[in-house]
This record gives sequence, C-alpha cells and structure tokens, in this order.
Amino acid sequence: MGAPVHDVTMAETLALIDRWIDTGGVHQIATVNPEFLMKARRDSDFRATLQRAALCIPDGIGVLWAARMRGTKLRERVAGSDLVPLLSAEAARRGWRVFYLGAAPGVAEKAAAILAARYPGLNVAGCYAGSPAPAEEDAIVARVRAAQTDILLVAYGAPKQDVWLDRNLARTGAAVGIGVGGSFDFIAGVSQRAPRWIQRLGLEWFYRLAHEPWRWRRQLALPHFVWLVLTGRDAP
Ligand code: UDP
Repeated sequence: MGAPVHDVTMAETLALIDRWIDTGGVHQIATVNPEFLMKARRDSDFRATLQRAALCIPDGIGVLWAARMRGTKLRERVAGSDLVPLLSAEAARRGWRVFYLGAAPGVAEKAAAILAARYPGLNVAGCYAGSPAPAEEDAIVARVRAAQTDILLVAYGAPKQDVWLDRNLARTGAAVGIGVGGSFDFIAGVSQRAPRWIQRLGLEWFYRLAHEPWRWRRQLALPHFVWLVLTGRDAP
C-alpha cells in the first residue's frame, strides 16, 4: 500500500528512542494500523510522510495479519497506546522531557498529571491542546522549542498529527516525535481501551467500534482493507 512497516518489538522501539535521544537529530515515529494504510494509499502526502518517518511501528493487529498473508511475520503488535505510558515511565527514569500536544482542551494536562503521579520524576516539558491548523504552527513550534523538549507526543489523529510532525518536528528541537492518536484520551479516561483479554484476542478494533459506534463510517475502511489484501489489489 506504499507505506513501510518495521518489524520491531516494543523493547526495540524503546531502545531506539533511547539511542536517538542520546545521538540527537530528528526522528519521527508513526503508529501504523490498517486505517493508516488505507489513507496512505489514497493520500500521497501522508504516504510520503510515512516513507520519511524513522520508524513505522505495527500498531494494529490488521497490519500483522496483512504482513502474514504476504509471507512476512512481524514479531509483535506495538500499540501507540501502550508506548505512551511505557515511554513516560522510561522518561521519568532517564530525565527526558516530554511534551504532550493535542487532544481536546484539558485532556493532555489530565493525561500528563496521571502519568506524573504514576511515574514520579516525570519531566513534563509542557501540555497544550492547540490545533493542527497551519496558522497555529509557528506558535506551537515556539512553545515546544522553549520547553526544551526531548520527546514530542502529538494527538491530532492520523493523518494530521503525522503530517504536522513531518513539517515541524525539526523546528521544535525535539529528538523524537510520535503521532499518538487517541492515547491521551485513554489515559485521561475520556475513552476506554478494550480489556487485555480482548486485546490478546486481536479484537481491540471491534471493541472500539462497539463502544464508539460513530466510528463505523471510518471502520468501513477495514473490510475494504481485508478485501484488498486478499485480492492483492492493494497498490497505491
Ligand atoms: N484531535 C485534535 N484536534 C484535531 C483532531 C483530533 O486534538 O483537529 C484529537 C482528538 O481529540 C483525539 C485525537 O486527536 O484526542 C485523535 O483521536 P482518534 O481516536 O481519532 O485517533 P486515532 O483513532 O487516529 O488513533
């Protein structure tokens, strides 16, 4: 579908982030699921963003399934929603400064406060809802830069968050930028993740559809995704 997916584990993802913060530079991470792939297939800007990203983690079980159908076994699902708390814990241990950008007003603050209580010593560089509107970019970049951010988490949903990072991450001074979708909503309790046993069955997407039925239109992309993979007509 024109977008890369890397065969990394959660432990390897954390180790790469660790190395990138040591070495500096600019590293964008995208959390690729079937909805991403379906959007990237049609949207060349988004596709180019994913191709330029330092790391595309296999966020959705559908991506693992599709890879297996093509004879490539990805070792594990690396969900962005799992990465945000694990990375915050590691940041608390290592003194990395994390900026929580995006979601509805107040949600990033609430998520960061919950994480800071859970992981004492977490250096919250900043929290800000802002918006992905181009007119706000310069002001947001200045805010993130002034906060001496090491890791910038952006929750504007795909593809906005990823294209935003592609355009702006280098200007923020952060070494790592990750598009994290609904992760702040989950941590703040605005929306609920599926119980672990449902996640283990590979049915988190179904749980989300059942709990947030207004997503049904978005998730119509999923049967189309399955059809494209099964028939091999998935080229962009
Ligand atoms: N969001 C935002 N501004 C926007 C669009 C989305 O802050 O213009 C936030 C929204 O509040 C939510 C997140 O982006 O916290 C996207 O969540 P969603 O569940 O759609 O993410 P995905 O399913 O793409 O991971």
